[in-house]
Amino acid sequence: MFKQVTAKIDFPEMERRILEWWEKEGIVKKYLERNNPPSPSESEGYGGARRFSFLDGPITANNPMGVHHAWGRTYKDLWQRYKNMQGFRQRFQNGFDCQGLWVEVEVEKALGFNSKKDIDKFGIGQFTSACKERVNEFARKQTEQSQRLGYFMDWDHSYYTMSETNNLYIWRFLKICHERGLIYKDKSSTTWCPRCETGLSRHEQADSYQDIKDVAVYIKFRVKDKPNEYFLVWTTTPWTISANVLLAINTSYEYVKAKADGEFYYLAKESAKRLGLDDYEVVSARELLNREYESVYDIPAQQGIRHFVVEWDLVNPAEGTGIVHVAPGCGEEDFELGRKLKVPALSPLNEAGVFIEGYGDLSGEFAHDVGDRVIDYLKKIDSLFKTESCVHSYPHCWRCKAKCLFRLEENWFINCQKIKEGLKRTASKAKWIPEFVGKRMQNWLDNMGDWMISRKRFYGLALPFYECPKCGQLAVIGGEEELRRLAVNPKLVEELPSFHRPWIDEIKIKCPKCGEAVSRIKEVGDCWLDAGVVPFSTLKYFEDKDYWERWFPADFICEMVEQVRLWYYSMLVYGYIFESKIPYRIVLNYVEVRDEKGERMSKTKGNGIPFDEAVEKMGADVMRWIYLRQNPEINLQLGYRSADETRRRFHLMLWNVYNFFVTYASVDKAQISNRKTQSDNILDKWILSRLNQTIKVVTEKLDQYDAMTASGTIEEFVGDLSTWYVRRSRDRVGPTAGTWNKDKAAFYNTMYSVLITLCKLLAPFTPFLAEEIYQNFTNLNESKTNKNESASVHLESWPEANEELVNTKVESEMEMVRKICELGHAERKSREIKVRQPLGMLHVTCSLLNDFDKQLVQLIKEELNVKEVEFLTRKGELRVELETKITPELAAEGETREIVRQIQEARKEAGCRLDQWIVVELSGWPQEFTDYIKKETLARELVKAKELRVLPQ
Ligand SMILES: [Zn+2]
Ligand SMILES: [Zn+2]
Repeated sequence: MFKQVTAKIDFPEMERRILEWWEKEGIVKKYLERNNPPSPSESEGYGGARRFSFLDGPITANNPMGVHHAWGRTYKDLWQRYKNMQGFRQRFQNGFDCQGLWVEVEVEKALGFNSKKDIDKFGIGQFTSACKERVNEFARKQTEQSQRLGYFMDWDHSYYTMSETNNLYIWRFLKICHERGLIYKDKSSTTWCPRCETGLSRHEQADSYQDIKDVAVYIKFRVKDKPNEYFLVWTTTPWTISANVLLAINTSYEYVKAKADGEFYYLAKESAKRLGLDDYEVVSARELLNREYESVYDIPAQQGIRHFVVEWDLVNPAEGTGIVHVAPGCGEEDFELGRKLKVPALSPLNEAGVFIEGYGDLSGEFAHDVGDRVIDYLKKIDSLFKTESCVHSYPHCWRCKAKCLFRLEENWFINCQKIKEGLKRTASKAKWIPEFVGKRMQNWLDNMGDWMISRKRFYGLALPFYECPKCGQLAVIGGEEELRRLAVNPKLVEELPSFHRPWIDEIKIKCPKCGEAVSRIKEVGDCWLDAGVVPFSTLKYFEDKDYWERWFPADFICEMVEQVRLWYYSMLVYGYIFESKIPYRIVLNYVEVRDEKGERMSKTKGNGIPFDEAVEKMGADVMRWIYLRQNPEINLQLGYRSADETRRRFHLMLWNVYNFFVTYASVDKAQISNRKTQSDNILDKWILSRLNQTIKVVTEKLDQYDAMTASGTIEEFVGDLSTWYVRRSRDRVGPTAGTWNKDKAAFYNTMYSVLITLCKLLAPFTPFLAEEIYQNFTNLNESKTNKNESASVHLESWPEANEELVNTKVESEMEMVRKICELGHAERKSREIKVRQPLGMLHVTCSLLNDFDKQLVQLIKEELNVKEVEFLTRKGELRVELETKITPELAAEGETREIVRQIQEARKEAGCRLDQWIVVELSGWPQEFTDYIKKETLARELVKAKELRVLPQ
């Protein structure tokens, strides 16, 4: 028999129990091996084995997993489980992102470091080891958390981007890029984090702008040889004034010469009006071009520079003065303009953002601290027009949140402009869900710039670039063997403990051109090089081409939409360079997890929910259901209130149905038969039809990567099962329905087959609840009821719809019945007549009722508690009308029903078993219903007494 179920279910407790059981029974291993070839001799099945190649976007193993990670992991698990049940072979490999600045920043924090100097003092070797330790620690933690979510993966074979394989694959890639002339080094004005002391690449900047309050300065630049005339210029970054080289105007606007306090100012006409400089004459903007002016700073760095006015179409007088101060060493756009005009670029800051020598009393000061000093200075030399506060969008370091600066830096790039068209073509071959993400990718490719791959840091991919100081030759090393061949001391390569800094830096190579001993450049690689290579490095591209061909491209990847310019992009570049192929077919995207009010979760606001807390409070199945029911294009609002609502609405509803089944099956000593017996009961026909329709739709939606509709369809089915099928079947079971009979058998067999199929459908969605019910159903006795049943629901096959059981006629008729009942209930409610009070007649007017099945009429009678139903066929809307006249007979019957209800309550309070006989004492009852009351309440006798009392026998 079934194990008894409690109505009060603690889902997290149940999940922990199931996790233990999975562990004990080795279920995960069996699941992973489910679709392996039957014997090792069958060599990985070239013959038609179905494969589903999923590629995991590596999670940064740097902190515990967050609730937003759990959203993606739920999707990943859902489709892998689904495909596994369908018999597809899979790799089940999870990935950890292990290198780069984000790990460094956390390790620095943990060690209390503030700058690069601290790391140098600590020792790069020790620092690298500390980074690796951190990665291993959090990879373990994230694995545990994922397991708690119910995620089944081959956790012992996760990939780590810090592995030698991964790093050396990137070397090979960079060598190929170099051979194609795509690697170059260039000076550029870089958005720079003064704390991390490294530049931010374009894809790192995209997300890191924040609105901040700042002081805007209006500066007077004296026109050369005109003591009373000035160009009026506006800037929000006072520290860059000392690096000014040009002023720029846009001659498509009108410019004026305005007079105030005996001085003359040049500026755009619309700016003059805004600044209240009303006394002006319009001047020819063209004539302002090439006019020279004097630098406001008389400092060594400014010596010998010719300052003059140029044309720039980016100038817009809508803010400022229509004259822009250009410092080519302090801004990306300024740099491009300066390069075009071949003027010098002054880069006043060192790596820590401090002014270098040559900048007067600014030298030695931190750039973001000199605002007031600059303003005081301008005032002193009578070059300040005015200041005002402003709010502007300014880049911040996305890792450490420091306010960025701009520096001229030499960096290494992959020339992506050159391969742009190829990348665009290749990207268009994937299926992007939702579609706008594909457009976003095209848009990114149109605007991306080249890929800055170098970082001036410690722990990351060692870029294999060796630049000869003597002849200038650049050697890019493509692997360990090549390094050994070129090494000055090959023994060092053999003994290399790790391809990371500082060890790799001890190896010098002989310049292939002139033989000079050459050191590696100091830079490490962008971490997106690490993640982008995984469609090759984890699929044995160089070691085992056959294997690679079987698994490449990935059939499915799934990440946050931000990955367009990050992981998706970097994989695209690798795919294009190696094979001119896209490494993925279907890309599912989701957006953000927010708090219950729709606000971004953040540490500072304290509104974040840690995963560990969430999963133990709401349970993994509830969390998963929330994620799967969500439209992935819309930010998800996660909180305990909505989780509780989800739990009641779905999990508890299903649990109550299951509990009802188990409880009554035991009272009725139900014998579940697996022989397909045809039931005549229309409720059974209906629910089996609904079940098979549900299987069809869920399968179809999962094939379309639409989890929201798939889970919604299941939820609707569970609703029908609970609020109609079970509700209307209550009278078919239990002692009051008599001894074992054909209809009872039909109910139990139907219900059993519905619930066990539902378990299989739910297995990829809510793996714990599905397992809990499945186990109770399949461990009925020593000899299993059905030889086909597996040890776990997760070893089962995905259910297939039985077309023979789909009956659309019954479904649409039942829909009509339910509508009629809904209207009938509304009518009772509006007339304030309880359902317990029987009524004589219900008139139904509708347009479509031909031979309405007798059983359906009976359902209406029972649900609405009416004696007769009369149908009128007439065009128009469905209408119902109740005859509300209560005859003495009907009143007596109503009273009887009320008495029965009270006795049932009293039975419960007295703790009677469902099949326990009782004697009832009560003050009175309609005599003609004695037998009825006795039957309904399992009473041997009704005894007249002062008040109601139930005496268990
Ligand atoms: Zn930073
Ligand atoms: Zn050389």
